[in-house]
Amino acid sequence: MNFTRPTLYPPAIKTPFPKNPRIFHHPSSLLTAQLASLSRKLHPSSLVTPLKSLSKSPSSRLSLRTKCTIADQQLAQPKETGVVIVGAGLAGLAAALRLNSSQIPFLLFEASDSVGGRVRTDSVDGFLLDRGFQIFITAYPEAQKLLDYESLNLQKFYSGALVYYNGGFHRVSDPLRHFWDSLGTITNPIGSITDKVLIGLSRLKAAASSFEDLLVAPESSTRERLLRDGFSSSIIGRFFVPFLGGIFFDAKLDTTSRLYDFVFKSLALGSNTLPSKGIGAIPDQLASRLPDFCLKLNSKVTKLNSDLSTVELENGEVFRGKFGLILGVEEPEAKRLLETEEAALANAKVKPCRSTVCLYFGADDAPIKEPILILNGSGKGIVNNMFFATNVASSYGPKGKTLVSVSLVGSYESWSDEELQNAVREEMGTWFAGSVVKAWNHLRTYRIGFAQPNQIPPTNLRKDPRVGPGVYACGDYRDSATFDGALVSGRRAAEALIEDNGW
Ligand SMILES: Cc1cc2nc3c(=O)[nH]c(=O)nc-3n(C[C@H](O)[C@H](O)[C@H](O)COP(=O)(O)OP(=O)(O)OC[C@H]3O[C@@H](n4cnc5c(N)ncnc54)[C@H](O)[C@@H]3O)c2cc1C
Repeated sequence: MNFTRPTLYPPAIKTPFPKNPRIFHHPSSLLTAQLASLSRKLHPSSLVTPLKSLSKSPSSRLSLRTKCTIADQQLAQPKETGVVIVGAGLAGLAAALRLNSSQIPFLLFEASDSVGGRVRTDSVDGFLLDRGFQIFITAYPEAQKLLDYESLNLQKFYSGALVYYNGGFHRVSDPLRHFWDSLGTITNPIGSITDKVLIGLSRLKAAASSFEDLLVAPESSTRERLLRDGFSSSIIGRFFVPFLGGIFFDAKLDTTSRLYDFVFKSLALGSNTLPSKGIGAIPDQLASRLPDFCLKLNSKVTKLNSDLSTVELENGEVFRGKFGLILGVEEPEAKRLLETEEAALANAKVKPCRSTVCLYFGADDAPIKEPILILNGSGKGIVNNMFFATNVASSYGPKGKTLVSVSLVGSYESWSDEELQNAVREEMGTWFAGSVVKAWNHLRTYRIGFAQPNQIPPTNLRKDPRVGPGVYACGDYRDSATFDGALVSGRRAAEALIEDNGW
């Protein structure tokens, strides 16, 4: 594949805060002195010493009233850094990279034992298990600027899907990439001939608008939009519900048409892929460009103080971000930490989040050999989609083994893991030979309660990152609920902080 190298941010800075002409030539002598002093003092060895002498920059333009979660005097003496970032998902990492490119000191606190947030991969018995079914679309505009695709060694899916319907598999293909496949399947029962032509037309139309324009275009639900575009209820139920429903974790297709347009355009312009080392290779690559000492794993932030620039960790340590704080945590956690009157109000109106369950099995062989997504268009059962991951990337399993990935939409909270596994095996036994499925070896079940924020209309997919005095929020709930939206939101939060500090 001929992928471009990232161009958005300057090269990774591995040395601690070398001088940046952009910052050090700032007309404000106070700021110049503060940054110079901070750069010296924020060398890793100095992070154990509380820095009391530097006052917070008077950058805040906002007057959001905030309830304290803890009184200042109860805090241990804070250690200071330039910017505190909370959460090392894609959004937090993108914010860190943007600050790093301007050589602004920061510390990135992550509650878990690794970076990536929802984008992680586990290694189990020689199989690579992404935490839920995830695909990376190469056309994502921010990702194109930020990631080195070549070293991710992206492995492509077939552009289309097999739909299980009426006891058999029926192909839906991208007419521009697989013209003859499309022609050969034009009369299959997944949709009418008009539907298949409309897919081709929508694909051409998607290229006409910019990604930016699509995210602010007039919106409706995705279902309304598909009906308005002329698609029949057959193709909506048999193809779009499992396909888009599996992307948005929303079987009703209530999600905003803005997200549909964004994803459809991305699919039209790019390829569906998996990095050969698992989806977690994406955040790993971003983190590898940050100075090691800036990243603090196993460091859960439990509280923010009254001016919101100081955070308390689970272990009692307290850190202050002299130039501001960037919250890159999931929407419910951001609301918990902020506890603003505005947030409390918003919490009361919060839309239910999107959930999914993903079951993995190891097998000796794949009944279907293609690198293709398989959708449940039957309208029956609990499986939404499945695929044989090792058909896409053989590195996802030990040599000669097959990794089976099965996804459900919803949380299935009242089902035990065993009940789910049995139901999935039974259902898969009707798709493939029962004896084949019986031999599958269950590897792991992932239940992802908060898979995505709910993005039903009305939406604002370009929320202002400024959420309080010196406080900026990023995450997929502030932009589009995609890898790309999370990356964009992180950069935008860092750029708002930079702008507000007058740099
Ligand atoms: C199963 C699944 C499949 C998906 N498939 C796709 C797909 O195919 N394509 C696509 O584009 N998008 C997909 N998405 C969506 C995409 O993964 C997310 O939109 C994106 O990763 C969100 O990134 P984020 O940085 O906003 O949040 P997160 O990834 O949730 O990052 C938040 C981070 O903050 C940390 N944190 C939370 N609280 C604290 C605290 N108090 N202190 C310190 N750290 C804290 C968390 O541990 C986490 O690391 C999928 C999501 C899921 C779950």
